[in-house]
Amino acid sequence: MDISGYTQFIRSEKMSAVYAEEIIFNLLEAVIDKAAYPLMLNKLDGDAALLYAELEDDEAAVARDVARQAQAFYDVFYERARLLSSERTDCDCNACQRILDLRLKAFLHCGEVVFKKIRQFEEMAGEDVIIVHRLIKNSIPSNEYILMTESFYQLAGNLLDMNMETCHEAYEDIGAITVNVFHPKKRNEIKPDQPIYAQFF
Ligand SMILES: [Zn+2]
Repeated sequence: MDISGYTQFIRSEKMSAVYAEEIIFNLLEAVIDKAAYPLMLNKLDGDAALLYAELEDDEAAVARDVARQAQAFYDVFYERARLLSSERTDCDCNACQRILDLRLKAFLHCGEVVFKKIRQFEEMAGEDVIIVHRLIKNSIPSNEYILMTESFYQLAGNLLDMNMETCHEAYEDIGAITVNVFHPKKRNEIKPDQPIYAQFF
């Protein structure tokens, strides 16, 4: 999971930078609190969180569970963003004013990892972990989506209520990689017989 939306201007202001960090942490915390077994947190890294699940006998079931959880993360993320934004209306710094501009991206990949124990930390290593990190930088012109690599998509399949687009990314070290990117549907694409959740303040 990776949060985007805050750009360099925040780093140029001292107070904004402090609040930005607080806000990002708070939003990640909301998402992580929502994560349930088999999904587990490995580490937080700035505005990103690395989670993993072990594929058990029914690999497809685990992958679908993870995909459903990723979709649910968006609800808690925006719910927390609205709460934070309403709590911070009095502060006119950029970080507090721009909370509702923040967006969440999820990157789902299936592969092999090696756990390297360093003191009490379990560091995830291996080529597949590198792939996930590389994918965060991509050519997709959107800041809100769920991205699945081919290996994950084979297991999990499509996501409900989202539009899929297949993209090709290329990296110097890992080469070309095909990904399926799920975008949220626009309001007017949602059929009236589907429930529409809205919050009013
Ligand atoms: Zn502020």
